[in-house]
Amino acid sequence: PVVTRFAPSPTGYLHIGGARTALFNYLFARHHGGKFLMRIEDTDAERHNEAAVDAILQGMAWLGTPHDGEIVRQRENIGRHKEVAAQLLANGGAYKCYCSKEELEAMRAQAEQQHVPFRYSGPWRNAGPDLVPPPDRQPVVRIRTPDDDGVTSWQDGVMGLIEIPNKDVDDFIILRADGTPTYLLAVVVDDHDMGVTQVIRGSDHIGNTARQISVFKNMGWELPDFAHLPLIHGPDGKKLSKRHGATGLEEFEAKGYLPESIRNYLARLSWSHGDDEIFSTEQAIEWFSFSACSRGAPCFDFDKLNGLNQHYIKEADHLRLAAIVLKLFPEVAPYAEKLRDPRVANMLKVRAKTLLEYKEAGWFFMSKRPIEVSPAAATDLKGAGAQEALTALVQLLEKYSGEWSPEGLETCIKDYAGTQKVKLGALAKPARAALTGSTASPGLFEVIWAIGRDEAIARLRRCDL
Ligand code: GLU
Repeated sequence: PVVTRFAPSPTGYLHIGGARTALFNYLFARHHGGKFLMRIEDTDAERHNEAAVDAILQGMAWLGTPHDGEIVRQRENIGRHKEVAAQLLANGGAYKCYCSKEELEAMRAQAEQQHVPFRYSGPWRNAGPDLVPPPDRQPVVRIRTPDDDGVTSWQDGVMGLIEIPNKDVDDFIILRADGTPTYLLAVVVDDHDMGVTQVIRGSDHIGNTARQISVFKNMGWELPDFAHLPLIHGPDGKKLSKRHGATGLEEFEAKGYLPESIRNYLARLSWSHGDDEIFSTEQAIEWFSFSACSRGAPCFDFDKLNGLNQHYIKEADHLRLAAIVLKLFPEVAPYAEKLRDPRVANMLKVRAKTLLEYKEAGWFFMSKRPIEVSPAAATDLKGAGAQEALTALVQLLEKYSGEWSPEGLETCIKDYAGTQKVKLGALAKPARAALTGSTASPGLFEVIWAIGRDEAIARLRRCDL
């Protein structure tokens, strides 16, 4: 059975790249009917704080890629990590190293001079019984990695055959002098104990994989399969960072992206299914395979994401959208009823690329008089015949006794324009400016309907002028 895992370090927020890693682990596990586990890598005692863990868990909950089973806390397994280090010492897969800082520095300097990667080459790797540990010095424990001319290699699910020369893999430390296990050991022990069959993570871990393989091998454990996803770049081809815009998942949430847009976008970012750009997570699960994953670094394209989000906002249930908008923007609370009206929702959905834009598209009926008037709208208010048009509309609305609906208002105003032989635009232009303060808005009849009779009349009278 397939077992994948997402193993974030609690850095304080879920990075969009981490979200993509989580998603791919989720898709792979679900595609194979396997399990998707979650582990929090919280062994860094100094930096550890629960708020940072919560931020990750909230990001995961929002993303909507639920994991199976209990969340594993790496720090709770420290005893087990030490136990494995002891076993490695006993079976010769690791050794104690008593080198001083100065000795190590000298080795590092030498490696640098020779332009080769540092590899521990001290006496403790092959110490015989006559090598006596210096008194009062606590040893570190190092893993024994192959020191031949060969390579450490694996068939990577995404990247294909990867070969790392053994001379580039050092005898890294698995237990520090204070007895605490290192990250490289903890990951392997936990992956093994959790029964992970498929490690899917960012390509920044390729070097770690070459090292971690030694731990598996020296313990006689079966290797999982590895798949490394290319790192996400910004539009300028550099690694995605704050400079490019939002990178934390909660920033995307706050700007009004829907989780299904992010899932669709992230899936498509490093994987494809023919020419399909818009697909559900269920479809992605059904279609997913590593063979259709790209090896090259994908570019995060905010415009493309906006396009997808626009699509999903249009598709979304209006009550769900209202609930999210009310949560994100507490200032719209007095207009909750309007936001829940399906006809208002249809009006706001038309152009909104984010829920921020959705809210702003509705701001004309939620804002208080005097409403702000853009320079272009102010020009429309001063145009020839504008004031007459507004006066006529006021009288029409005052007299109007039909159903208060966009359709009813449309009939009434069009009839009037027809009998008076005025162009509809001559009424609509100044009316839109007076009602919304802007030259672009949803359709005039919907606007009047959404604003309501009294407020619409007050605005058309330009009481604020
Ligand atoms: N905790 C590591 C990180 O956040 C990931 C470890 C792994 O996936 O093996 O980068």
